[in-house]
Amino acid sequence: MSITIALSKGRIYDETLPLLAAAGITVAEDPEKSRKLIFPTNQPDVRVVLVRASDVPVYVQYGGADVGVAGLDSLIEHGGQGLYLPLDLQIAQCRVSVAVREGFDYQAAVRQGARLKIATKYTSIAREFFAKKGVHVDMVKLYGSMELAPLTGMADAIVDLVSTGGTLKANHLVEVERIMDISSRLVVNQAALKLKQAKLRHIIDSFAGAVVKG
Ligand code: AMP
Repeated sequence: MSITIALSKGRIYDETLPLLAAAGITVAEDPEKSRKLIFPTNQPDVRVVLVRASDVPVYVQYGGADVGVAGLDSLIEHGGQGLYLPLDLQIAQCRVSVAVREGFDYQAAVRQGARLKIATKYTSIAREFFAKKGVHVDMVKLYGSMELAPLTGMADAIVDLVSTGGTLKANHLVEVERIMDISSRLVVNQAALKLKQAKLRHIIDSFAGAVVKG
């Protein structure tokens, strides 16, 4: 029985490579230099598929992949149905924050009972965060370049991933609240865990041994 591992390009892929190596798995080709979506590995019964970060939980939930690496942000938005989450891999670390235009009076705008227009890809995270504050939110769902929304007057604030803060700064936005810290998790299909237990246990245990605690 073969194993399919779902990853996304960029930080998650780059930072998962050492963990795969710990499990004795090396990808035969550099996905950054290819338009292929399925990559064989040095192990004939293990392959890697590359999907959008937010689609990793979906592939693993429906068995398109047996195992994957997904950011906590994607997992919360997905809901986690059908998934076993055995490990915090401590990779692709960042945070979900609220940001506004420079000069925007956020403290005045988030008073209880107020109404705020939020642009974000992370609607579940944002909805829960502002609900707890008692702030009404008009949500504008976006799929990228959220920084533009406050600059064009489409929203008062954005909820987005922040790492160095460089992107916000370059767009004259300021981080006003940190909602949660994010890292990537190992995600396993619950049915596959039973059917392919030995192979998946080996991957889980090898990844666990290679996680850099930070
Ligand atoms: P930075 O400029 O370093 O604060 O990075 C912010 C930009 O990178 C935003 O567009 C984020 O959506 C994206 N980003 C930051 N960290 C991550 C991550 N761990 N995974 C995916 N996207 C990220």
